[in-house]
Amino acid sequence: MSTVCSQKPRVLTGDTPTGQLHLGHYVGSVKRRLELQETHDCFFIIANMHAFTTRAQEPADIRRDCLEIVRDYLAMGIDPDRSTIFLQTEVPAISELTYLFAMLLPFNRVMRNPTLKDEIRDRGLGDRYSFGFPLYAVGQTADILAFRAHSVPVGQDQVPHIELTREVARRFNQLYCGVSDQAADADHVKLGGVFPLPVADVGPVGRLVGTDGKLKMSKSLNNAIFITDSPQVVKRKIAKIYTGRQSPTEPGDPNNALFQYVDTFIQDKDRVAELRDRYARGDNIGDGHIKPEVAEAVNALLAPMRRRRGLYEGDDDAILDILKAGCERANEVAEETLGMAKDAACLKFFDRELRYR
Ligand code: ATP
Ligand code: MG
Repeated sequence: MSTVCSQKPRVLTGDTPTGQLHLGHYVGSVKRRLELQETHDCFFIIANMHAFTTRAQEPADIRRDCLEIVRDYLAMGIDPDRSTIFLQTEVPAISELTYLFAMLLPFNRVMRNPTLKDEIRDRGLGDRYSFGFPLYAVGQTADILAFRAHSVPVGQDQVPHIELTREVARRFNQLYCGVSDQAADADHVKLGGVFPLPVADVGPVGRLVGTDGKLKMSKSLNNAIFITDSPQVVKRKIAKIYTGRQSPTEPGDPNNALFQYVDTFIQDKDRVAELRDRYARGDNIGDGHIKPEVAEAVNALLAPMRRRRGLYEGDDDAILDILKAGCERANEVAEETLGMAKDAACLKFFDRELRYR
């Protein structure tokens, strides 16, 4: 197998095909990816196996959303010639590492993960979730470590997952690579560890609230503005953002959900300051005055994305070509990592080669 020789630091992040991408993805992760693809070796995973944790009964929809998310990536400016876009299920090393890593984490430690708890509550899963649902948190450690990534550009909700990943890396390096439990996190690889300890790279908008004004904007919570929404739909959804404010002369809270949109999407910062000031004083400015301005700003951001997305509409072959090239490149790195990990854990008996036809 060829050794992967890019000298740039590696980045891994991605999305679950539980639907299409929305503004939360853009401000929370994709915007940062666009900067990083200039300077880093970027891997973007479509976590389709993880989509089965909540959508196992909808396999055809998951498959469709994989392709749609790639279109969303291209629309937002991810360049497949510089970044590697791939499917989780086409990189078997990830599943193999998941199994191994599951042995390194106490069951109760996984179940204490606050993001899992939030998801169980927000999706109303009660105690009906599958065995595989919490396993996805372990799987995500394998997504990241299979690429020996140094950083992971994500929204705030993913920070507990990255912490779990750091714990797995620490434990593996200590158990199987002879790294001392006194070693500083940054020194693990220098001391012979297979896995660097990755850091979460959370940007200025780590949690964009949804149009319900309460919960995180999420594909699964029916509160999202999608990249594919038309200008009219964007306007309508923003008009629904609820703040509870009653009148234009009532002093408003410029830290509410609507103002997160003002701060995030209106580019003219003098205008933002003016809106904040008048809103806080209740200077005859209603939510209904501000929402059309926010919608205009969001539509200005989405217009070039809609145009670029149009180029790939209906052309599944072009998307599959991008994915196939991405999966080949992802397997080169992930197979190399798996080989190193199996070697360290006395699991390596033979060399193997993985190839698509
Ligand atoms: P699901 O409802 O299936 O959990 P999601 O909308 O939460 O979907 P994910 O695929 O879980 O999206 O998240 C992909 C990436 O986008 C993660 O890094 C996540 O932190 C980020 N992200 C998702 N929603 C938001 C948001 N509202 N604000 C900021 N970042 C977000
Ligand atoms: Mg999520």
